Amino acid sequence: QCIVLNSYNLLTFKNERCTELFETLGCEGEIRLALQHLSDWAAPRPVEKTLMTLVDQAYVQPQPLGLVLIIGAWNYPWAVTLQPLVGAIAAGNAAIIKPSEVSSHSARAMEELLPLYLDTDLYPVVTGGVSETQELLRQRWDHVFYTGSSSVGRLVMEAAAAHLTPVTLELGGKSPCYIHSDCNIRVAARYGPDHVGKFVNCGQTCISPDYVLCEPSVQSRLLEEVREARLKHFYGISFEDYGRIINQRHFRRIMGLMEGSTVALGGDCDEADCYIGPTVLKDVSADSKVMKEEIFGPVLPIISVSGVDQAIQFISDREKPLVIYVFTEDKKVGLMIADTSSGALLANDCLVHFTVSTLPFGGVGHSGMGCYKGKHTFDQLSHLRSCLIKSSSLESVNSLRYPPHTQRKINW
Ligand code: NAD
Repeated sequence: QCIVLNSYNLLTFKNERCTELFETLGCEGEIRLALQHLSDWAAPRPVEKTLMTLVDQAYVQPQPLGLVLIIGAWNYPWAVTLQPLVGAIAAGNAAIIKPSEVSSHSARAMEELLPLYLDTDLYPVVTGGVSETQELLRQRWDHVFYTGSSSVGRLVMEAAAAHLTPVTLELGGKSPCYIHSDCNIRVAARYGPDHVGKFVNCGQTCISPDYVLCEPSVQSRLLEEVREARLKHFYGISFEDYGRIINQRHFRRIMGLMEGSTVALGGDCDEADCYIGPTVLKDVSADSKVMKEEIFGPVLPIISVSGVDQAIQFISDREKPLVIYVFTEDKKVGLMIADTSSGALLANDCLVHFTVSTLPFGGVGHSGMGCYKGKHTFDQLSHLRSCLIKSSSLESVNSLRYPPHTQRKINW
């Protein structure tokens, strides 16, 4: 697939292996899973019965919702658009696919490639920008599945409310990463701030750790390990393998967020090439510019806290994030962090919960509503219809329901 996608010039901001790892493999996995389990997912689901329904049939029957509008974001244009589509098709819906205009090469590739494999009456691709999306949102749908920013998510929900259409909102936010002093800092640096977590896809990942919380002594060890991991093991000194920021507007936005903060590592950039190298900011204060909005770029602020209690307070004072990361060997610390609220919780690793299709993926509060992945997408885009098929064989039991409603009947 990468060769095909490459011919559409898609790999200008993402290298080829990242495209395979983070885009196409996940879509293939979702398709395989749906093919393998579809008959189970779609089958009636018997439920526990009561005394009154003992001889009846009681079950939940998944039914298609009808017509689903899928609006995708640009950062993983294939994964966030096609993975919901797999569930929409599996659940028996028709779906309109609206890829993001920002990742324009991907949008064109989808517009040209999907009709080769899917019925265009049932699964058309509509391209265009904000006004086209707004026009789509004025129509009546049976479900809107939106991935993108919280501010546009609000507009999507407003438009859907006019028709009482349910929505799934896969939004963003500032996901924190608490690194406790007892953890293996080398591992934490690799999985969290570095290659696997923050800097993959140049930080343009909804679930990347937006900022790190740790004690001051952890900050200096962490900086050492990130420097070591980045320079020697992952990208090489020239960072040739590194991707690019999606466009110059976002380049300038990210550079602007760094104003007033101290660069501890990285900071190299080239506006003409939309390049920002992996950057770590140290001793960042809570009211700095970079803490005012989701960074969505390869810039990692480190904020000092006195320990786990202050970290929890910091997290709880803010909107509920898409994910909270914690690195610790201490079960008690892990449980304390688990006592917060977020779309997901991941300990001692970053991002990989997205690959576990048995785990529902989604946000809570400002980071979104609803969820998807595997069977969860199927259920999200189905109506789970309650069915009770009464048997007339035990009419004598029904006599209890008929008036007069005597005390004897109530006691029975
Ligand atoms: P974007 O600008 O591509 O917008 C997403 C979609 O919204 C596009 O299809 C676009 O046409 C439409 N849109 C934009 N403005 C609109 C408007 N005013 N009215 C109607 N439609 C409009 O993407 P973005 O919003 O920059 O995406 C980045 C955000 O998405 C980040 O916050 C990121 O965290 C989040 N995100 C979340 C997930 C997730 O699964 N939760 C995944 C990827 C990205």
